[in-house]
Amino acid sequence: MAKLLLKNINKVYAGGVKAVDNFNLEVEDREFIVLVGPSGCGKSTTLRMIAGLEEISSGELYIGDRLVNDVAPKDRDIAMVFQNYALYPHMSVFENMAFGLKLKKVPKDEIEKKVKEAAEILGIEHLLDRKPKALSGGQRQRVALGRAMVREPKVFLMDEPLSNLDAKLRVQMRTEISKLHQRLKTTFIYVTHDQTEAMTMGTRIVVMKDGVIQQVDTPKNLYDNP
Ligand code: ADP
Ligand code: ADP
Repeated sequence: MAKLLLKNINKVYAGGVKAVDNFNLEVEDREFIVLVGPSGCGKSTTLRMIAGLEEISSGELYIGDRLVNDVAPKDRDIAMVFQNYALYPHMSVFENMAFGLKLKKVPKDEIEKKVKEAAEILGIEHLLDRKPKALSGGQRQRVALGRAMVREPKVFLMDEPLSNLDAKLRVQMRTEISKLHQRLKTTFIYVTHDQTEAMTMGTRIVVMKDGVIQQVDTPKNLYDNP
């Protein structure tokens, strides 16, 4: 069973903009899918529909073997990492990472264990008591990744997570996120307009234009047949 199935997915925004046009994709377990294409081609809308943050106009979305069109975001077994990190400014790094687990009433000692484990993997264990404003951009992005990780989602969704970082850090975080994907052994769906990012990170790349899928292939095949 595919980990994720998008069947004839369409999105028409109020006002009539057709943002996504008959999107079909089957994603296997542990793939790293990159949605790539110019600004306005429908990448973000697609990701937000998978997350449940945007209603699907028509079509069917399966996560695992469950039809999730009408399932609330928090019940979809997904976690999303945003470009602007979306950390809670009044909470420490620890509290930011623990927040989702606290809501789920996970026991305190288990929360502490999971947060510390994730923080260690991401190299932020020395920052747990800091507030987000006392962190660099790269550190904030790691906290956002950590907050997603501790929930152990089936699918990781990332919307341009590196675009607020400077060029050097962007290259470093690319490698880190690829390593994280290998380590977590889970499915990633990653949105970017940056072709280099797509080619270096994806196991499969979905090229979009004007809401329509143009090509779906491995980086190697896209490189050989652009
Ligand atoms: P991308 O992520 O590739 O930049 P988006 O998915 O954000 O593209 O946008 C796809 C299209 O949908 C664009 O034409 C955009 O203007 C439009 N769009 C996005 N969000 C909304 C919205 N909330 N209401 C109306 N149109 C929208
Ligand atoms: P409360 O539940 O009273 O609001 P906190 O949210 O501050 O308390 O912390 C909850 C638990 O999380 C604490 O009992 C502590 O074990 C753990 N904790 C908080 N901050 C840290 C940290 N920086 N490092 C390790 N554990 C922490």
